[in-house]
Amino acid sequence: MSSTSTAFQLHSSVTSFVSTTRKMLIGKDWVESVSGKSFPVYDPATGELLATVTEGDKEDINRAVKAAREAFDSGPWSKMTASERGRLIWRLADLLEKHTEEFAQLESLDNGKPLAVARAADVPLAVDLFRYMAGWATKIEGTTIPISVPYTPGAEYLAYTKREPVGVVGQIIPWNFPLLMAVWKLGPALATGCTVVLKPAEQTPLTALLLGELILEAGFPAGVVNIVPGYGETAGAALAAHPDVDKVAFTGSTEVGKLIVQAAAGNLKKVTLELGGKSPNIVLNDADVELAIQGAANAIFFNHGQCCAAGSRLYAHQNVYDKVVEGVATIADKIRVGAGLDPSTEMGPLVSEEQLRRVCGYIESGKGDGAKAVAGGERLGDKGYFVKPTILTDVKQNMKVVQEEIFGPVVTAMPFKDVEEIIPVANDTVYGLAAGIWTSDLSKAHKIASHLRAGTVWINCYNIFDAALPFGGYKQSGWGREMGRDALDLYTEVKSVCIRL
Ligand code: ADP
Repeated sequence: MSSTSTAFQLHSSVTSFVSTTRKMLIGKDWVESVSGKSFPVYDPATGELLATVTEGDKEDINRAVKAAREAFDSGPWSKMTASERGRLIWRLADLLEKHTEEFAQLESLDNGKPLAVARAADVPLAVDLFRYMAGWATKIEGTTIPISVPYTPGAEYLAYTKREPVGVVGQIIPWNFPLLMAVWKLGPALATGCTVVLKPAEQTPLTALLLGELILEAGFPAGVVNIVPGYGETAGAALAAHPDVDKVAFTGSTEVGKLIVQAAAGNLKKVTLELGGKSPNIVLNDADVELAIQGAANAIFFNHGQCCAAGSRLYAHQNVYDKVVEGVATIADKIRVGAGLDPSTEMGPLVSEEQLRRVCGYIESGKGDGAKAVAGGERLGDKGYFVKPTILTDVKQNMKVVQEEIFGPVVTAMPFKDVEEIIPVANDTVYGLAAGIWTSDLSKAHKIASHLRAGTVWINCYNIFDAALPFGGYKQSGWGREMGRDALDLYTEVKSVCIRL
């Protein structure tokens, strides 16, 4: 394992970006917080200070909401055509693509993920999402509706609907895909004509702030996007409760999602939530076992298990169970864990000391309940926030490690006898974000898919995301969907217009 990020030759603009205290974006200006306070951001590979960022709080959120309100109500943005909005978003996508390397390096430094992953997944997915949403800007359509109105016999009407932007949107995002989560949220808001106050996660605010520079460069008018870094309990809570915010879109833990709903109740702002998961990954006895092993490992170890959709409950048919567990364990043992910027790294550190404690706590809890770690099962090294890729066997459905979201590279594995038996077990969770099925019988796969209470079901694949494919959760995994056409609906209000002819 290598635990240093310093050997790598960073892009000069990344070095200079982290060398000064980063300010917040309000209107079109980079400003300090009203309080003058700032907060530290750490390199998770070393635990050392990476950057200092100005700390937004309630007063700063007030300033940002005011700027977003003005931009929405009377700024040039409110008069812009859909085509012009689309062009701006496309320009932003081009700029982001041009700066892929800087964003990938900064993301890897800040979050800990391997640079190769940030280059190949995080940044290109973000670019693609902007382009997809740019295309939608000119296609936010209503319908004409034939109406009868029984109590006005003989009268004729023309009735139609319009989709209008919901208004000022507060967006609160997590630290697992810092840039991509910002883009998933900004894309549909900008395509529909909303204005935004974005609060990145306190652990990983850097790429969202760098994106702010490109937003200005692309030519978005002042106040369309405001970015206020700060802590959840202060800046985040103020944004969720703000009376002049029309919608709050949140991605994070289910626990905080419930606080967002309460905070939003004050002015009944619209709420969309993308929350936790404990997704089942089911391997049938007729699966291509090698494919399923690779898929099961990717399902849990991608992004160090710090994915809300992680396939964290592996259920394998008893005929293939031993082979699957052994296969995933072999992969786990071989994964090269190290600093994100080390070119040989396949899995980086967890994002923070808090996450390290949390994940190790779950591993201990599992062992205490009788689970056996057939791979990993402990922290790696004593510097940085590294955990070994872990598989827990001998688990029972009611154990904490099977029921609760761990958000780390820890999968539980259980055998099952028949398909009918496994569906209720797979659904035995408060979450409903995703699920995986591995089988060569597609008819069976479709049947199981229809019985799984999850927003996404992957069959013979896992972690496949696309800008066009809606993503979101059943049950306590959330409200609403991100990406795809569905996301746009949630950034609009429907207006019915009725004319007597
Ligand atoms: P995690 O537990 O994985 O860090 P959280 O749900 O706590 O995830 O955080 C996700 C986002 O929610 C972050 O931007 C965080 O600052 C923010 N947040 C945390 N607590 C609150 C809160 N009470 N109100 C609003 N936002 C919050």
